[in-house]
Amino acid sequence: MDSSQFREAAHSAIDEIIQYYDTVAERPVLPNVSPGYLRPLLPAGPPDEGEPWSAIQADIDKIIVPGLTHWQSPKFMAFFPCNSSYPGMLGELYSSAFNAAAFNWICSPAVTELETVVMDWIAKLIALPDCYQSAGEGGGIIQGTASEVVLTSVVAARERLIRRKLGDMPEGDERMDKAADLRGKMVALGSEHAHSSTQKAAVIAGTRFRTVPAPRSSNFGVTGRALRTTIEELKAKGLDPFYFTATIGSTGTCAVDDLEGIADVARDYPDLWIHVDAAYAGSALICPEYQHLCPPIAHFDSFNFNLHKWLLTNFDCSAFFVKRRKDLIDTYSITPSYLRNEFTESGLVTDYRDWQIPLGRRFRSLKVWFVLRTYGVKGLREFIRGHVKLGEYFNGLLESRPDVFSVVTPASFGLTTFQVNPAKAHAPSSPATKSNPAHEAYLNDFTNDAEAQYREDANRVTKEVYEKVNAAGEFFLTSTVVCGVYVIRVVSAVERSEEKYLKRVFEVLLEAAEEVVNEKAKA
Ligand code: PLP
Repeated sequence: MDSSQFREAAHSAIDEIIQYYDTVAERPVLPNVSPGYLRPLLPAGPPDEGEPWSAIQADIDKIIVPGLTHWQSPKFMAFFPCNSSYPGMLGELYSSAFNAAAFNWICSPAVTELETVVMDWIAKLIALPDCYQSAGEGGGIIQGTASEVVLTSVVAARERLIRRKLGDMPEGDERMDKAADLRGKMVALGSEHAHSSTQKAAVIAGTRFRTVPAPRSSNFGVTGRALRTTIEELKAKGLDPFYFTATIGSTGTCAVDDLEGIADVARDYPDLWIHVDAAYAGSALICPEYQHLCPPIAHFDSFNFNLHKWLLTNFDCSAFFVKRRKDLIDTYSITPSYLRNEFTESGLVTDYRDWQIPLGRRFRSLKVWFVLRTYGVKGLREFIRGHVKLGEYFNGLLESRPDVFSVVTPASFGLTTFQVNPAKAHAPSSPATKSNPAHEAYLNDFTNDAEAQYREDANRVTKEVYEKVNAAGEFFLTSTVVCGVYVIRVVSAVERSEEKYLKRVFEVLLEAAEEVVNEKAKA
């Protein structure tokens, strides 16, 4: 493909992409294909002769689009969003045009320096304590995903503790044996509701993993007290807790751990690396009304959030901030002769390869820069606040029908979780945990067994309603189980989200709930 063919192909591709975005709301959000749909539509191998772009592009609509789940559709209310934007796409386009594996400063100074500047902008924008700015001992780096960030933190935490314990013991077999013994006793911690990436990181790092309880009574958040108790129990067994993931916005319910209480624990356990995972909800910290969450982060070691979830920056883009970049560099800087150069030796430049697991890295800061400049701080705050309001609107709809639905966790960062009541009831006070006096099956039985039965029935009807709504295909929702309670999650935070879609999903849920509960009553 030469320059003029590229020009023609790119114009045609951009036109098609715009058309896709303009019609995405009208498409069924979930594809109607069966597993393995694709292979029969493709030849057995690549073509011998090159094909014209027109032939390749035609297959996008024919073969690829039918197998897409439309994450940018306003009817996508599952998981957390993965927002894209036109400026984000332009950033990706330039990034692939300047294609580089920019691991050291000299590999492309603009790649490193723009990243440092935009990460400082972001740290300020989300009111991270100043210690996370690059002007001090900290700084930010862009990684692909939150899971990579958590793994990078877990391994750096493990190695930091080993360095501290082994002090200036000389390098050699004895030091390596001692380090291996220490690693076997080390335990990574995360809330029982922390994202599975912490457990996965512990598996990869070869350490133990233990959860910290976060019951409904603490709004599914870890308290300082629960963390302290877990640490003390592990220490009493001769184990070494070395790392904890605190969460702002848990995957299931958007719960927030008790950061103030956890900061007290941090003061007493300086060897415990505390990382804050705010993968989704962290974007809300650009709004001053959420920034009261930030001061305790000064007592922790690292923080991340995914701009690719809620801040209009195309996948992938996870902002990772550390309080002491030296903690990363001491673990990840391994410099064979082929990576040495005068700029690195001068100590005046940042080589981001020393802060991360891979060597090569993409030019991701361009898309962040484009997004920040196109929307401005005001535009981004408006975007976030719009979704927070939509969450509250949906929560209100659920509460308008207490006979059918019970909110389990009220709208938090736009996410509401709820159950379907197993039978028509009159505004039960807390139907997800209590027997319901209006439910005939339990009329004469208020024992623990009746409560357990109620909970089981609520879980069952909720699951049935969830499956019915997703099977209908108009909306895509996800469900989860928190502390034994099966809930449906609704989060409407894509660029095209609007009140009318939340009203409609509520109607669809209501219809499905009435059908399921009535069928049960007849049976
Ligand atoms: N942390 C939290 C709280 C999440 O909700 C998620 C995903 O939704 C992740 C981490 C993992 O994100 P990633 O796909 O960036 O690894």
